[in-house]
Amino acid sequence: MTASSKTLIGIDLGTTNSLVAVFTDEGPRLIANSLGEFLTPSAVGYGDDGALLVGRAAKDRLLTHPAQTAARFKRYMGTNHEMTLGKKAFRAEELSSFVLRSLRADAEAFLGHSVDEAVISVPAYFNDIQRKATITAAEFAGLKVNRLINEPTAAALAYGLQDRQGESTFLVVDLGGGTFDVSILEMFSGVMEVRASAGDAFLGGEDFTDALAMELGRQIGIKPEDVSREDGARLRGLADRMKVQLSEAPEARAEFALKGEARPVSITREKFDEITDPILKRLRLPIQRAISDASLRADDLHRIITVGGATRMHAVRQLVTRLFKRFPEYSIDPDHVVALGAAVQAGLAARHKALDDVVMTDVCPFTLGFETSIQVGEGKYEHGQFSPMIERNTVVPVSKADIISPLHPNQHEIALRIFQGESPFVKDNILIGTLHIPLRGGPKEDKSVELRYTYDTSGVLEVEATPLATKKMERLVIEGNPGSLPRAEIENRLKALSAIKIHPRDQHENAALIARLRAAFENSLGDKRQSVGRLIAEFEGVLSRQDVREINEARRNIDQIIGNFERDDVF
Ligand code: AMP
Repeated sequence: MTASSKTLIGIDLGTTNSLVAVFTDEGPRLIANSLGEFLTPSAVGYGDDGALLVGRAAKDRLLTHPAQTAARFKRYMGTNHEMTLGKKAFRAEELSSFVLRSLRADAEAFLGHSVDEAVISVPAYFNDIQRKATITAAEFAGLKVNRLINEPTAAALAYGLQDRQGESTFLVVDLGGGTFDVSILEMFSGVMEVRASAGDAFLGGEDFTDALAMELGRQIGIKPEDVSREDGARLRGLADRMKVQLSEAPEARAEFALKGEARPVSITREKFDEITDPILKRLRLPIQRAISDASLRADDLHRIITVGGATRMHAVRQLVTRLFKRFPEYSIDPDHVVALGAAVQAGLAARHKALDDVVMTDVCPFTLGFETSIQVGEGKYEHGQFSPMIERNTVVPVSKADIISPLHPNQHEIALRIFQGESPFVKDNILIGTLHIPLRGGPKEDKSVELRYTYDTSGVLEVEATPLATKKMERLVIEGNPGSLPRAEIENRLKALSAIKIHPRDQHENAALIARLRAAFENSLGDKRQSVGRLIAEFEGVLSRQDVREINEARRNIDQIIGNFERDDVF
């Protein structure tokens, strides 16, 4: 591979798992983390020594130390919601930045040089605020975002590269942990064009897990929201494992340890399909909208690609097969495909010679517009109308201009509220923020302003204003975005975050094994629990002797024993 001193990395920053990849002479390649795994769970938590653990160790500690651990924070990107780790509250951008820091360190260890630029994938349906929050997360991790790439576009790039001289129309169904995206792409002699995107930013595999956790709780006679945080986390963890089992088997059975007693739970695929049917139904609308926006019929689609771990669910595969009367493709692992595509985009950005003949265009998934008022009588206005400016599924980058004038001649400012969405009323769309447009001059002067909106290739919005009287252009800052951090606050937090130490990579394997053993101890009862307890004591004894060879050998042995336990049955 080419080890140039400047390498862009491709990152899939997922709700449940994240991955990093690079583009090499042999094509896109995934990079393993310090545990030798490609999937780094998007989980973060404080370890016993006060250093921050990222990935598998943190995920396992969700069970044993829920108050010190956080996961699934991608759902809160672009909101003011904070999650508490120990005594400190963090925003989603900050928690995500720890995952990005860890992936960056893995890439640097693999490449042998530092990395400061990345292509990061986001759900196509992420709005402007969520996209800007992702860029802030990268900045917190010391990474410049070369481009945000929509997840289904990345997936199609990875697939398209396999058949770059072909000609086909793809539909990509991407059901991740927390988001659902559908995209339609056309590929023709290396030129790949996104025709339409649709989705739901609040629908994912985790909703299926929540529904199953409720059902398991019902079987045991508890409500997940009424149990302790620890028991709730265990019940959810169990529901997640049983859900995954149902992708392979018609039934899953397990025992849940509650108040020292093993309580049996079970679920058949039929019952699971019944309780998750309302969630499954929500998948249909974005699929139909993407097809109609692309002015196609289901028969026009040559390839149906499924992406995201949750498309492994039987009912999801069945739905897609039924809708398109053919089986979806998943020749590339659905967990890997987005990161591989992000690496292809990184290769394109770096003008890698192996990608000379590949061109990629994408679209904006939302309509962008602003609030207008209609005059309904003398001095009377009807507010709250949505005036579209850039229609959804316009190819990006795109720039549109419009001239606006104040309602009253002695106004000094226009406060223009910008929205994303498809409803004719702004109240039903998402407020991106407000533009404060200063109006200079007296009541007799022309106060009209030309506004130019640009969606860049990352789907991020910029607005420029040019007063017609002066023709002096200014770039306007969109203010008051609910859910985004002001610049000064970003600088403050950047300082505080850089002081937080992440657990050293070379000790990660030990921390991960301890976390896994403790989770197993918590989850089990009786003899099994005693055996796990002995393994913990044994490994801690070995660690205290600080002999690297002995530690490595013990870790391998214990890893095998605990692996057998976990395979035996669900805890
Ligand atoms: P992603 O964000 O693409 O990593 O998707 C993660 C989601 O996929 C989570 O909700 C997982 O529980 C779910 N998932 C992963 N593997 C499977 C599987 N084999 N069967 C069902 N769901 C799965």
